[in-house]
Amino acid sequence: MTDTNPTVNSAGYEVPPELRQNVAVTTLDKIWNMGRRYSVWPMMFGLACCAIEMICTAASRYDLARFGMEVMRPSPRQSDLMIVSGTVTKKMIPQIVRLYNQMPEPKYVLAMGACASGGGPFKEGYNVVSGVDQYVPVDVYVPGCPPTPQALLHGLMKLQEKIDSESITTVRWYGKDDIPAIPVPLLGPDLIDPRDNELIKQETSKKPAAPAAPAAPAPAAEAAS
Ligand code: SF4
Repeated sequence: MTDTNPTVNSAGYEVPPELRQNVAVTTLDKIWNMGRRYSVWPMMFGLACCAIEMICTAASRYDLARFGMEVMRPSPRQSDLMIVSGTVTKKMIPQIVRLYNQMPEPKYVLAMGACASGGGPFKEGYNVVSGVDQYVPVDVYVPGCPPTPQALLHGLMKLQEKIDSESITTVRWYGKDDIPAIPVPLLGPDLIDPRDNELIKQETSKKPAAPAAPAAPAPAAEAAS
């Protein structure tokens, strides 16, 4: 059906020639995303050697201010980007999940380097998590050991592209459903993910198999008569 009374919000609306120098037509999503992509506030924390490259990226030579990201915040309450820069140990992951839960929506996670993305050189080590994405959702992975500042900047630009692709009508934080917090893993003799509690209960409640009955002694060989 054709729109008999088109406005500037109608698809394909033709701006009259006399107004073309004065009127810009766009969409709410574009304005909203432009504001967000140029004001990402990363959280200020680092885990290992990759953090040195992240600090370098934020300093004068690489100048994160060009992206509107230079204000790293020391509180998760004021941040919308978690850059996981370094080795994620089993001792540290409960704190990382807690910090993630404390960040307000919208929030993003960037895994910087081989360790944060999959365990890196310490993969399957006794004290290392094989990738932070086992516990929190990751939006962008930046490979490298460590990634260069240029690689991190590329990852941040990929994050901007992701923000550009979002629509105010479909993002989860404006939906009607509650966004559940991620259960904080428990550190004991090993790491326990509370989401596995049911499985752990089932496995630990299984009765141990009864020990096998001792084999009957073999009949003594008849003495040769
Ligand atoms: S990826 Fe390499 S540089 Fe980065 S934290 Fe791991 S070992 Fe260090």
